[in-house]
Amino acid sequence: MSKRSIKDVDVAGKTVLVRVDFNVPTRGGVISDDSRIRAALPTIKLLREGGAKVVVCSHFGRPKGQIVEEMRLTAVRERLAELLDTDVANASGPSGTTPSEVVSTLKSGEVALLENLRFEPGEEANDAEFSKHLAGLADIYVNDAFGAAHRAHASTAGVAAHLPAYAGLLMERELEMLGSSLEGSTGATVAIVGGAKVADKIQVLLHLATKVDTILVGGGMVAAFYVAQGMSGGAAEVTEEDTDAAKRLLSSSGANVVLPADVVTAPEFNENSQASVCDASDVPIDGLILDIGPRSSKEYARIISLVDTVIWNGPMGVFEWPNFAKGSKSVAKAVAANKKATSVIGGGSTAEVVGSLDLVDQITHVSTGGGASLEFLEGKILPGVAALDDAI
Ligand code: AMP
Repeated sequence: MSKRSIKDVDVAGKTVLVRVDFNVPTRGGVISDDSRIRAALPTIKLLREGGAKVVVCSHFGRPKGQIVEEMRLTAVRERLAELLDTDVANASGPSGTTPSEVVSTLKSGEVALLENLRFEPGEEANDAEFSKHLAGLADIYVNDAFGAAHRAHASTAGVAAHLPAYAGLLMERELEMLGSSLEGSTGATVAIVGGAKVADKIQVLLHLATKVDTILVGGGMVAAFYVAQGMSGGAAEVTEEDTDAAKRLLSSSGANVVLPADVVTAPEFNENSQASVCDASDVPIDGLILDIGPRSSKEYARIISLVDTVIWNGPMGVFEWPNFAKGSKSVAKAVAANKKATSVIGGGSTAEVVGSLDLVDQITHVSTGGGASLEFLEGKILPGVAALDDAI
């Protein structure tokens, strides 16, 4: 069911509470990557241009219901003001009477930012009183925080029960891109799934197997798939649960599941450990599989070049270490090179791989939500999305 969009609403003179995801990475109190703030700008600009009084709110870090000085949104507010080229009032709070006092002084087109929502214990508890308090600040609620939509918190779910609740532009694009990559494709589709453990990704694999034609497997979970096929998984600890999960996918799958024909192994889980390439059938029992091998990289690139839709979640190896990053880089380049395909990348570490190669512009959509996109690809209903009003 699609959700009502803020695009279709007259917001002139209305106070609009916008939940965004400004949980930006920082180093020593300085924002090291402001992409999340930039990603929310189109919605904030749309509201300002429409004559709304804009009250922005976000979580930041994990203060666990207490005021933690280093987790104040001061630097975020300053950056938002810079990017919008306007003042952003400090609405303080997030609870208490100050927010409503500040909000009552806003004029059309003006912007205020509430203090870190997670300073208030009621936020993560999805507390009814705190939800009502947030709703009391505004006439309309907009959720543009796709990255937090997998959480049922007061600002992502509870508040929506008390106000007309719409999807922001970023939220809308995330749902459209992730959704259409799964449901809307008419041509050949491939899902590339990697990451550290099969246990983390089995639900994604099982769900994608019902939606796509081919699944390319990489990352630490390769060991479990090899063991499931009676081969050596090397020195990695593969539990019975992992092998069962791999077997479940191999037997249940409507999709063609492709495993790497060769892998890169190392004797230790260490950046400088000696990397060697071996065939799938020859993984040494004392070797850890840390990347897909060169033949697999080529084969995966060939398959990727033929499809119309690519969904990618999870790197092919320990991409943080140059000796084990080649498989992930090769896949990233292949995805970027297929100009006819719609390519959608789940956030988190896969987005980092693509970002490190400066290929973001050549991908149709790089999700801003790691955990949220993962849950979406698992087929779960995200509470922050479910809470929004349905499109008529
Ligand atoms: P995820 O967040 O699930 O996409 O997993 C990303 C993490 O998986 C990265 O930090 C990678 O270093 C790690 N990873 C990928 N391949 C392997 C592997 N073969 N062995 C151990 N960790 C891996």
